[in-house]
This record gives sequence, C-alpha cells and structure tokens, in this order.
Amino acid sequence: MSFKLLALNKSLRKAIAEKGYETPTLVQEKTIPLVLDKKDLVVSAQTGTGKTAAFALPILQLLFDKQDASKKGKKIKALVISPTRELAIQIEENFKTYSKYTNLRTAVIYGGASIEPQKDILNKGVDILIATPGRLLDLHKQTFVNLTAVEILVLDEADLMLDMGFIDDVQKIARLCPPTKQQLLFSATIPFKVEQLANTLLNQPTHINVTPKTATASTIHQSLYYVPKSKKIELCLHLLRNHIKGSIIIFRRTKFGVDKLEKTLLNNGYKVASLHGDKSQSIRQQALKDFKKNTANILIATDVAARGIDIDNVDAVINFDLPNIPETYVHRIGRTARAGKSGASFAFCAADEKNYIKTIQQYLGFQLDIIEHPYPLDPKAKPQVHKKKGSKYKKGRKSVASKKKKKRWY
Ligand code: AMP
Repeated sequence: MSFKLLALNKSLRKAIAEKGYETPTLVQEKTIPLVLDKKDLVVSAQTGTGKTAAFALPILQLLFDKQDASKKGKKIKALVISPTRELAIQIEENFKTYSKYTNLRTAVIYGGASIEPQKDILNKGVDILIATPGRLLDLHKQTFVNLTAVEILVLDEADLMLDMGFIDDVQKIARLCPPTKQQLLFSATIPFKVEQLANTLLNQPTHINVTPKTATASTIHQSLYYVPKSKKIELCLHLLRNHIKGSIIIFRRTKFGVDKLEKTLLNNGYKVASLHGDKSQSIRQQALKDFKKNTANILIATDVAARGIDIDNVDAVINFDLPNIPETYVHRIGRTARAGKSGASFAFCAADEKNYIKTIQQYLGFQLDIIEHPYPLDPKAKPQVHKKKGSKYKKGRKSVASKKKKKRWY
C-alpha cells in the first residue's frame, strides 16, 4: 500500500517522502481512510506504531480540501488534546513537518510555560491546535480560544488522560466544541473507563486495534534480576559497566527515585538526563534534546513523564522499579526494538515487587530469563515494610500532613 492509495494529496506526500516514510504503517493503513470518511474512531495503538501520522495526515487532508473556503479564519478547525506537554510538543512538531507544503497553521499550548506568547499565537489565528487540557481551558476562559468551529477533535493517550485525572476537563472541552464534530480517541490500552468515555462522547465509533498483547516480545531480550532493594544501585552500576552499552532508558516509580539515581550515576561519571513531573518545562525539553542527540546516553524517567514520547534507537530499558500494571511494563520495554531492531530489557525485582513480576509474566504469557548476579535476593525474603524513625507515615493510614499536601508522586 502506498500513501497515494490512501488519497493523500501531493503536498502531504512530498513532506512525508522527505521525512523518509515510504509506506504507511498498519495503524495508518487502517485509520486514514476512515478519518477521511468522517467516521468517529476508537484506536488502540501504542507510541511507535505511527499513530500520530495516522490522525495528523487525514486531518491535514480534510482541512486542506476546505482551505479556500475557510481562508485565514481565526477559528480553530482541528483540536488535539494531549495529557502531557512533551507529547503535545511532539504532536505539533509532526503536524508542522507534514503540513510544510500547505498553508495550514498549527500551534501548541501547554501549562508550565509563559502564557503570553501562546495568546499572541492564538490571536494570529490557528487552524490546528494541540493542547494540554488545563491550559486550553484557561485560555478559553480568557477568550483567547474559540472552539465553536472545531470540526475534528482528537483525544490522544486517552488512558493516560484519565489516569491523570483529566476526565472532567476532557468532557468540558468536548462540550465546548460543536456537537457535529468528528471525534477520534487514541489510547495505548482500552480499559473499561476509556470505553465508557468513548461511549459517552463519540458517535457510533469504529474500533481499530493494532496493539497485539506481546507485540514487543519477539525482538526484545527480556531478563529478570531478583535483587534486594538496597542492592539495586550496585546491580545497575555493574550492568552499565559491564553489559549494557548505547542509549538506555531507566524507569523509576517516583520523582524522588529519579533524582536520587541521577545523582548517583552522575557521580559515577555517566552522562545522564532525567524526566519527571516536578521539573520545569524547559529542563524537561532540554533533557529530551540531550538524550536524542546522545549528549546524555542515559535517560532516567517516571512513566508519566516519559509516556507517549517518541524516542528512537534505544538499545536497552532498565526497569529499576517494577510497574504495578503489566501494560506499563510492555510500554516501557516497547521503547527499545523499534522498527524491527532488536533490544534488551532488564527488570529488577525486589522482595516487595514479587507480585508485580508474577502479574507481568502472566500477562506476557511467558517467563522472563532469570539472570544470576552478584547480589541475589534471598528467595525467602519477606516484603519489607519501610518505616522511617520518627516518621508520621504509618503503613495503611495516611497522616494529616500527607492528606493535606497531596503531591503527585510520579
Ligand atoms: P508515533 O507512533 O506517532 O510516535 O510514531 C513513531 C515513529 O514512527 C516516529 O518517529 C514517526 O516519525 C515514524 N513514522 C510514522 N509513520 C511512519 C511511516 N509510515 N514510515 C516510517 N516511519 C514512520
């Protein structure tokens, strides 16, 4: 199948040929004709499948066709909602690349950055707007955003959007757009709550699924290390020194964990960048740039900060802390072995994570390779209960202090 057969015009085909795309990916093949046919869609596809172009290209095509009629109007015609700033920026970069031989105007707005330049851009007029929910509603309230002419609404990474608590914002945004709009919902997984959201918002959507459960399993060598929590850092350094080379992503559960590991690796002479929700927008972007350019070959991240970000050519993924959701494990290791290349993943399992690894292996349908190493976990080790001296935080009950200061942990 070629992009010509997908009925994309010359300007778009020229741009994607320059980007090096020869044939559409599976999700593009399935999605593009239906979007052009003005259908509502629920698409289950992970980052790395080419899902951004799967909605960006037909949106550009549809708007391109109507361009003369709506010339230089100020109203937004396509709106893409993204849960994270990094993903929003990346989506807009894609739109910019594909639309470079058209006159369509794209812009991105997100929180954590100065609002004034965003107002200026909106004032000049935008055809396609990519936004995070909070900043969009803020600018709408201040009357810089007019959604009354939106023809296509895209909800990207809908599962993450719900995990991050954006459900009310998303519903509000959908209501601000005309009821006749076409709606496309993209999600790496479709749990019940995403299905529910799709049922309330979309109009008889067609479902597309391009996420086979173990899609990543065959090209990624996945190994498992049973290791005491206190020895994880030593194991990590041992592997970096002796076994893992190239560009590496290390996942941690908490922001604190990311910072701590970053310090340790920097002290050991490694070139490290890191991503988590407490870092300012400019620092997060710089970290991504450094990693992409290989100025830093190790990126340490929490799931939310790294989700949806397109980072190619990762040689290995270390699950320094195991995720408690098996799908997250698959997302994480899916960062490596892109586009038919091989990759490696290393899972560190401490005593209190044994249930996680059990569920992950059940989900995958096979056992990971257990690797012997210098710091084995005592097989009889009991899950540890962490109780700091003098800590207000007791197991199973939140202190008043923790309730009051409900900080995001990712
Ligand atoms: P995404 O899933 O949208 O994050 O895309 C993953 C990567 O695939 C990005 O680097 C895209 O530039 C690339 N890509 C998207 N479509 C194609 C295609 N048809 N051929 C080759 N690469 C593509």
